[in-house]
Amino acid sequence: MKELKGSKFAHITKAHPCFNEKMHDKVGRAHVPIAPKCNIYCNFCTRDINKDENRPGVASCVMDSDAAIEHVKNVTEDGPISVVGVAGPGDSLANPDTIKFFKKLGEEKPDLIKCMSTNGLLLPDLAEEVAKVGVNTITVTVNAINPEIAEKIYTFIKYHDKVYKGREAVEILIKNQLDGIEKVSNLGVIVKVNSVLIPGVNDEHIIEIAKEVKKRGASLMNVLPLIPLNKMKDIPKPTCEQIEKVRSEVEEIIPVFRACTQCRADAYGIPGKKHEDHHLGITPASHY
Ligand code: SF4
Ligand code: SF4
Ligand code: SF4
Repeated sequence: MKELKGSKFAHITKAHPCFNEKMHDKVGRAHVPIAPKCNIYCNFCTRDINKDENRPGVASCVMDSDAAIEHVKNVTEDGPISVVGVAGPGDSLANPDTIKFFKKLGEEKPDLIKCMSTNGLLLPDLAEEVAKVGVNTITVTVNAINPEIAEKIYTFIKYHDKVYKGREAVEILIKNQLDGIEKVSNLGVIVKVNSVLIPGVNDEHIIEIAKEVKKRGASLMNVLPLIPLNKMKDIPKPTCEQIEKVRSEVEEIIPVFRACTQCRADAYGIPGKKHEDHHLGITPASHY
């Protein structure tokens, strides 16, 4: 991965394990599972763990923003955690607790880097709030910018209390993701774009995503292999060669982060490090 140029970002990326491969196994992040709801349906996502916060088993594992602050205080006492992230288990922005949490975190622990991941649907609506509460880095998952391809990946979206399906749904989603990236990066938040590589669906298309998101202000991309689940359970997982091919193509356009091993919504500690990477024992993350 080429170093992220741009001195205004250097102080953040230097200490962020998800934006700097050299730091990935050196400094920790803590995810707080405060975002159970989601507002879109990705065909590869296991909906049974993400349905909504009232569902038994999911609700009992989800924290509110006060409990999350306590959790952060505890885990930062135990080890070198530099980043606190909201990465699900649903969509960060579909849950008002996320903004509340970051506001409190800024008051209680101002030195920690604030990070979140989102599908981007609500990003144009909430970009200003995200910047205002001091979020430093945001990951937006963009799996297609061509509506024809996107229709194969998403079943529906729920936007402003209305459910949209098919072409209409993906057009709103794509527009909001791209406008949201542009808006939030203009407000000074560092944007990484994650794309899930789905063989036979978007493998030839990720390069187009890279070109567009770079134009919109993204600094970094992360190409992740599909974990075949739900409606995509029969699609084979991409091979290492397939992933490497796409990452190399994308790297011609924008820096690529390669150290990600897709961790959980409740992970804390140093990513991937034996005895130093922990989780709360709840459902796996949606942070594709
Ligand atoms: Fe929602 Fe994320 Fe699951 Fe997609 S992968 S349905 S954005 S929780
Ligand atoms: Fe890293 Fe994503 Fe978590 Fe941020 S939200 S700390 S980028 S894994
Ligand atoms: Fe972030 Fe991936 Fe590293 Fe987890 S493994 S901390 S998701 S970059």
